Amino acid sequence: MKRRTNSLRKVYCDYCGRETEYVDSKVIYGKSYGKIYLCRNCMAYVGVHKGTDKPLGRLANAELRNWKKAAHAVFDPLWKYGRFRGHRNAAYAWLAQKMGLPVEKTHIGMFDVGQCRKAIEIIEKETKGDRYGRYQKDPR
Ligand SMILES: [Zn+2]
Repeated sequence: MKRRTNSLRKVYCDYCGRETEYVDSKVIYGKSYGKIYLCRNCMAYVGVHKGTDKPLGRLANAELRNWKKAAHAVFDPLWKYGRFRGHRNAAYAWLAQKMGLPVEKTHIGMFDVGQCRKAIEIIEKETKGDRYGRYQKDPR
């Protein structure tokens, strides 16, 4: 492959298969948070690793973005305040095992809707009865 000055890889939409556009995220957010790969057909997009043109994971449409938010909402308190005590990698290693996935594929940013749902189910089952996740002040 020829090296182009802008070194853009071809990234195809995970939903419709069309080639995405490499654009500034301000087209989505109104403010620039770096580059994204965008499919205008599906309004699906993904950010890039800082300083590179490497996508962070798969493109996400509105539905997947909501599921990822939901997954983060249960996963983040687990690794931050739960038994992983701030060790996110340890929490991902645990989740990988529970989901039967290789650790390097276990990242909410890489999950599809089905994997988000499965992760949420696993985490909710695991943390049932735990008190840390609720952010509730002790009533006393
Ligand atoms: Zn698309």
